[in-house]
Amino acid sequence: MKKLALLLTLGCAFTLTAQTEIEKVTENISKSEIEGHIYFLADDVLKGRATGSPELKIAASYLANSFRRYGVHPNPKTGTYYQEVKLKRVFPPKNASIEINNQVITDYAFINAAAMTSDQDAIFLNYGLANDYIGKDVKGKVIIVKAGSAETKDARAAFGLRRTKEKLAKDNGVTAIIELLKTDDNMWSFIDHNFNGPSLTVDLGDNDKNDGDETAYVWVLDREGKMAEQLSAATTISSKIAIGDKQEEAVISQNVIGVVEGTDATLKNEYIIYSAHYDHVGIGEPDKTGDTIYNGARDNAVGTTTVLSMAKNLAKYPTKRSALFILFTGEEKGLLGSSYYVENPVLPLNQMVYCFNSDNAGYNDTSLISIIGLTRTTAENNIFSAAETFGLKAIEDPAKEQGLFDRSDNVNFAKKGIPSPTFSLGFTSFDGDVTKYYHRPGDEAHTLDYDYLLKFFKAYVLAGRNIANDKETPRWNEGDKYEEVSKELYNVKPIKD
Ligand SMILES: [Zn+2]
Repeated sequence: MKKLALLLTLGCAFTLTAQTEIEKVTENISKSEIEGHIYFLADDVLKGRATGSPELKIAASYLANSFRRYGVHPNPKTGTYYQEVKLKRVFPPKNASIEINNQVITDYAFINAAAMTSDQDAIFLNYGLANDYIGKDVKGKVIIVKAGSAETKDARAAFGLRRTKEKLAKDNGVTAIIELLKTDDNMWSFIDHNFNGPSLTVDLGDNDKNDGDETAYVWVLDREGKMAEQLSAATTISSKIAIGDKQEEAVISQNVIGVVEGTDATLKNEYIIYSAHYDHVGIGEPDKTGDTIYNGARDNAVGTTTVLSMAKNLAKYPTKRSALFILFTGEEKGLLGSSYYVENPVLPLNQMVYCFNSDNAGYNDTSLISIIGLTRTTAENNIFSAAETFGLKAIEDPAKEQGLFDRSDNVNFAKKGIPSPTFSLGFTSFDGDVTKYYHRPGDEAHTLDYDYLLKFFKAYVLAGRNIANDKETPRWNEGDKYEEVSKELYNVKPIKD
């Protein structure tokens, strides 16, 4: 009898240690728990989790204390679960006036609102591209240019060329660029809304100070292109410009960070980053029902929950490689939290061998997981097999025209050389089922299919475990755009203890 008891005990011990990877995942994730995360994060009380809002701080506290509850270690730099992200809100100048040939301009938008006053003849410089400067002395002058180039003249093209034109103007000592944009009222109201309102950016501190030789850059609406026609033919153009100071205010926001150490003496020096943004777009235009709160259940309470699920799992069942969990602020305002992070990492970037990001717009196929960048790294099979285990199929980005790889936090890690795909709910195209919820007040917790989500989260956790336990370190596939910068990053061997 005693012998049998002993055998049974041994048997139990054996089963415990031999618990399979799949069991470690399924035992640890429940539908009720993921519902709890998503219903809380997408609750109306958080008012759409806008960056800089008190409600986003409540979300951050919820995430930090979930890490604490799971037994995840805090940010090693601060001893808390936070990383302060210094942002600033910039308001365009209240006082500005622009006159061309004694005509007061009323429809303008600032690309760069550098403070200045000037009263002088302006020079018409065609498109303001390199060729247009040949043989022209424009030092200290105001130039007037047409938007875009000879090939492309729409607002999107003009926006794409703004940095080039700004640099040319600066290099040639130009004081101000007035760019005449031929576009319709619809597009103009979009531009007016986006450029003439307050904007959030990362505060770069001393590197960010105005060096006094900034070039003012203003778009002026030229509906029919008549102004460009007249001015290009004019012998002299008078201009009078006065731009007041921008107003700035500091905004402190938080990335939420946790760590779990790996179990393998060597591999634990390599980290897998599990990341997602937890902010959303806040309160905005009402939809047909009058709802103004953009809840962001899919975008990105779901991604946040993938990271929470991973954190809970690894705190209990660590992998050979270590784990760094990062939940970003400010993604919707221009990937701010991740931009800040890669310049202020809490652990050396060259020890981060992979960044497994999750971001979501919506889904239209619950048999799939769409991974943006799936086929660009050697971890592909680890993800593919994990999805298959839970009855799902992993597919590569099906909507390349959307440029999704470059529109989420993963791209900031990719630019540093770290292999970094984005794990997303299954979609086959950016169709109505996706756009119906994407950045809309209707993206609410009760509209999600939780049976599908359960499989989705299990697949993410198992895929992460596969990658973190693989004896091969993941890397970019040969010939990838980020392969070179990756070699530079990892050329310096991680410090071993
Ligand atoms: Zn998102």
